[in-house]
Amino acid sequence: MNPRALAPLRRIVGSEHVLAPVPAPYLQDATAARGIRGEAAAAVRPADAEQVAAVVRHCYAEGIAIVPRGGGSGLAGGAVPAGGELVLSLERLQRVRALEPERWRMHVEAGVRTATVQRLARENGCWYPPDPGAGEQSHIGGNIATNAGGPHAFKYGVTRAWVTGVEAVLAPGELVRLGGPVRKDASGYDLRGLLIGSEGTLGVVTAAWLRLIPAPPAAAALAACYADPAQGARALVDALGSGVVPAVLEFLDAGALAAAGPAFPLPLPGETRFLVLAEVDGGPEQVERERAELAEALDAPALRVHAFVTESERRALWRWRDGVSLAVSAQRGGKLSEDIVVPVEHLGEAIAATVEIGERHGLPACSWGHGGDGNVHATFMLDPSCAAERERAEHAAGEVFARALALGGAVSGEHGLGLVKRGWLRRQWPEAAVAAHEAVKRALDPKGLFNPGKKLP
Ligand SMILES: Cc1cc2nc3c(=O)[nH]c(=O)nc-3n(C[C@H](O)[C@H](O)[C@H](O)COP(=O)(O)OP(=O)(O)OC[C@H]3O[C@@H](n4cnc5c(N)ncnc54)[C@H](O)[C@@H]3O)c2cc1C
Repeated sequence: MNPRALAPLRRIVGSEHVLAPVPAPYLQDATAARGIRGEAAAAVRPADAEQVAAVVRHCYAEGIAIVPRGGGSGLAGGAVPAGGELVLSLERLQRVRALEPERWRMHVEAGVRTATVQRLARENGCWYPPDPGAGEQSHIGGNIATNAGGPHAFKYGVTRAWVTGVEAVLAPGELVRLGGPVRKDASGYDLRGLLIGSEGTLGVVTAAWLRLIPAPPAAAALAACYADPAQGARALVDALGSGVVPAVLEFLDAGALAAAGPAFPLPLPGETRFLVLAEVDGGPEQVERERAELAEALDAPALRVHAFVTESERRALWRWRDGVSLAVSAQRGGKLSEDIVVPVEHLGEAIAATVEIGERHGLPACSWGHGGDGNVHATFMLDPSCAAERERAEHAAGEVFARALALGGAVSGEHGLGLVKRGWLRRQWPEAAVAAHEAVKRALDPKGLFNPGKKLP
């Protein structure tokens, strides 16, 4: 970028919010654990939506590529600049524009953290169900850009289901409102839906209208331990036929348990090689009944099924679950973790394939994830300072993607394609579908300046 291009940016956002050279944290996301870091010409931190629009207008006129950045917790390298772009951080857009618990809705700016949205909803007698794992770090704008999932997505749906409107800056710098506080809107093409999950490649999200619901009055959790991973995966899938709709249905395989198991809130049977975690919610009687039915459905081949009934027991369980990713990273200092998704009946095959592929590439492998959704965090543990291991892990990930597609699945269930999986749409979709995708990109970003090289090749 021409250094003279920075002067107008300084006028828009103020000199102290134009960072050049760019501090390291703005050049990476959670893929730093696998050794990915980027370069950028500058980073800007606008204060509000109008400043975002002015920055985009300037960049679009000058041909400067933009990488929108939320909390930097992404696992696909979507917020990592390749070099020469402008990083546009939404971190200062933190206003809660409206909180209306009696109407079950909230209007927040893109930089509000996911955990803040959840807390505000809770403190006002409501609930915002999407619960992606890095909620203290991720922004609601980043969740929208990746259409984030999380454990409760099984019953309540991913972020898309909770966003009734998006305010965004589209090319060449127009601030538009797509949807709003209305709960239904059948009047146009679903441009709001198009922005959700677009990973910053179609525009910059500046605010959102979120749907809330009253929190379920009661909940209970179960942990079912299995000696045989294949049996455990089958039990999880078969439990779906019990008629109970769990709020959460998660799994951990033997490798993930070896890393995180020692901190489990209770002693696990020594032979445990597969763990299913489930939660039911609703009124107290419903919870009691469904907990018993689900425990019975999970029980047949289990070593043990343990119930977590009190609030503090459940909290301890889910706090432990939140730490699984870090515990796995700690094994060798780093990891390459992907998030394939398969039809749920193929869950066991996807989990076994990850271990087998890791063995062939000389890398310890494991997986955990949102089992009820068939969403597997297929993971290879590595030393991030070892280039050979990183390269082997990339090859192994390619094989995992191919296996997911062969099983009728997709290369990403919730993290997006970003930098690390760009190009895989061509393997996943027929040519005409990819061409339609590219036509959308050209229509909304004719100069190709929004997050270039991400998602599409
Ligand atoms: C420990 C851990 C657990 C995780 N668990 C989950 C999980 O359970 N489910 C899940 O889905 N993900 C999970 N993730 C991944 C990550 O937290 C999500 O992808 C999250 O939605 C990213 O949000 P962010 O604000 O950090 O976005 P960033 O990482 O900053 O950006 C992600 C992408 O969104 C784009 N973007 C960000 N903000 C905007 C904006 N305002 N407008 C336009 N584009 C934008 C970026 O350009 C990039 O392409 C986890 C990550 C970690 C580290």
